[in-house]
Amino acid sequence: MQSIPCEGCGRITPSYDIVNYKSVDQGYKQLCSQCFNTEMARLYRLDDFEHLKFEPFRLTDCTGKNHEFHFQTRLFGTGVTLDAIELCNGLPGGYEFQVIGHPEDDLLALLGRLIEKMRRGLAVKHLDEDNFGLQIADHQIVRGRIECDVDNDDRMPLLVIDGKEIIWQEMGRMLKIGSLLAKA
Ligand SMILES: [Zn+2]
Repeated sequence: MQSIPCEGCGRITPSYDIVNYKSVDQGYKQLCSQCFNTEMARLYRLDDFEHLKFEPFRLTDCTGKNHEFHFQTRLFGTGVTLDAIELCNGLPGGYEFQVIGHPEDDLLALLGRLIEKMRRGLAVKHLDEDNFGLQIADHQIVRGRIECDVDNDDRMPLLVIDGKEIIWQEMGRMLKIGSLLAKA
């Protein structure tokens, strides 16, 4: 895992937790979430904003598999986001959940909302795997998020469903199998 020192506090920080912050007077700085939030609180005069650091923790999905989540709090003036990002071998990959609140919200209450969302997300599987590979589960609803497939020259969409990366062609194959089964 790559780590770099934060240019604000000097703390060695995993690169996924670093923000490229552009200040009017000092140009770009690479800041950890806490220093970034301090800058934002100063800029937007949010004197009461208190950054809370939440320790990573594990949650179990409906198949009994453990997922380790890292938390990120980001203040952006009019709002605050709290993200739970799954770490696979020390790097972001898999599930991601986010809640957005008001800068004056209680961050612990926001964390409570986020954990509830994570539990709901991990309680359902949208894909099943059998001898024929991955298939859309019987309830026929797929939820996930869309990212960009950076390994693909055509920059096709990359889907993340059940915390798994699914390339566009694979999704097409699953939809085709689903429609054949529906006709049979
Ligand atoms: Zn820092």
